[in-house]
Amino acid sequence: FDKVYDIIVVGSGFAGLAAALEARLGGAEVLLIEKMPAFGGNSAINGGAFSVAGSPLQKKFGIEDSTDRMLADMIKSGRGLSHVDLLKMVVEGSLPAYEFTLRHGVKYKDFVQHFGGHSVPRTLQTVESTGGGITRPLTESCRKHGVELHLHAKMEDFVRAEDGRVIGLTVRERYQFPKEDSGVLQTYGARKGVIMATGGFSRNLWFRRQQDPSLDERLDSTNHPGATGEGLLKMFAIGGAPVQVDQIQLGPWCSPDERGFGLVSQFNTIAGFPMGIMVDVRTGKRFCNELADRKERTDAILGLMEDGKPVYPVCFTDSKGVEKAQTLKNGLKYGVIKAFDTIEDLAKAYGIPADALVEQVKRFNAMVADKNDTEFHRALDLAIQLDKPPFYACRVWPKVHYCMGGVGITAKAEVYSVEGKVIPGLYAAGEVTGGTHGASRLGGCAIADGLVMGRVAADNCLKMKPVAL
Ligand code: ADP
Repeated sequence: FDKVYDIIVVGSGFAGLAAALEARLGGAEVLLIEKMPAFGGNSAINGGAFSVAGSPLQKKFGIEDSTDRMLADMIKSGRGLSHVDLLKMVVEGSLPAYEFTLRHGVKYKDFVQHFGGHSVPRTLQTVESTGGGITRPLTESCRKHGVELHLHAKMEDFVRAEDGRVIGLTVRERYQFPKEDSGVLQTYGARKGVIMATGGFSRNLWFRRQQDPSLDERLDSTNHPGATGEGLLKMFAIGGAPVQVDQIQLGPWCSPDERGFGLVSQFNTIAGFPMGIMVDVRTGKRFCNELADRKERTDAILGLMEDGKPVYPVCFTDSKGVEKAQTLKNGLKYGVIKAFDTIEDLAKAYGIPADALVEQVKRFNAMVADKNDTEFHRALDLAIQLDKPPFYACRVWPKVHYCMGGVGITAKAEVYSVEGKVIPGLYAAGEVTGGTHGASRLGGCAIADGLVMGRVAADNCLKMKPVAL
């Protein structure tokens, strides 16, 4: 080996950073490698929304919640496919993980959001409104505590002992994404083990289409370019168990008018969907519960096709409570969100029958006054009567967002082999793992999953008897 550590962590998203920090604080010599030119991975560009059961902020705002309630919401969204033992770990670890982030300098806004599919508001928001508000302080903390951090370092393959235990990695240092054979190969030993936190494969068009042919090149993805899944495929190659790999989630709040996650995703999540409405431009009518879980909303939106072509719906809200939102300002600046003085003007701009839209808004306002959505049974606690111009509107179309499937793990984050045993010395956490969220992950739960299971992986890897290398 060129160098030997106790634990090597691959990937620097929520899961990898939490694992590296936890392992280091537990006394291990830790190397964290990241193939991209910057730390944070897809986590850094995520919306920074963190669902926690029983947070101090919920208590402050008088919101009653419990781990049982959050678990029930997640099981429901998983449609019978969730691995409940893993979900339980995530839910029960959410509050301790939140406290862990506070200890490492993460700051949250002073409100709790109500995300789709959750039965109560429980989603916290970093002050930066991005996952970078977590990955940056955690990276800093890793550095401060002495985790060795390598950028441009791609995990190429596993090194295994004769008995099959994972004892190290070959790593391409000075790797230039996406140049396959750039850089130089080094071999690193891991006395206790390797933790894989390499994220999802939303940007691997070939692999994602193999799993679900409907997710073809016409669909964009919210993910960073490095979400290409080689880490997962390497685990499969050494016999890691594939679990529910075709369960791939689309984000229903995205816009076809910008690339990637963009500005609209954030705007719709915090304002458009919980406050306003989304309508079919052909009828001027709502067509789904704007706060249903992601799968229900995505399926409803993707149903708006004509002659095989998308008919983009329009989501809008009024000016109350959103004017200061930075995403709104930027969205208006780049023209992906538009402002209108009247509902009629809005209708005209998108070719919506104006009378029908005015009627729909009237019906919605009456339902908000009654706190009862008789059309789609949406929770209306954050909804507003749409009557104060300007009205802010955007077009909507889903994008590939999150891979629920991945490699199978135990509740200790050990990687399952296809024979139902574990691969010794190999742990995995975060989006690269499969089964936790079943058919649909709830919003704000990727942060919970990554942070919690990253720490679980580290705690268990720390307990491994070291091999002499
Ligand atoms: P999670 O939310 O599960 O932590 P992310 O997608 O945020 O996942 O982070 C995964 C990170 O792993 C990304 O920064 C990605 O660039 C990195 N990564 C993926 N494959 C490799 C690899 N083969 N070698 C090194 N880093 C990798």
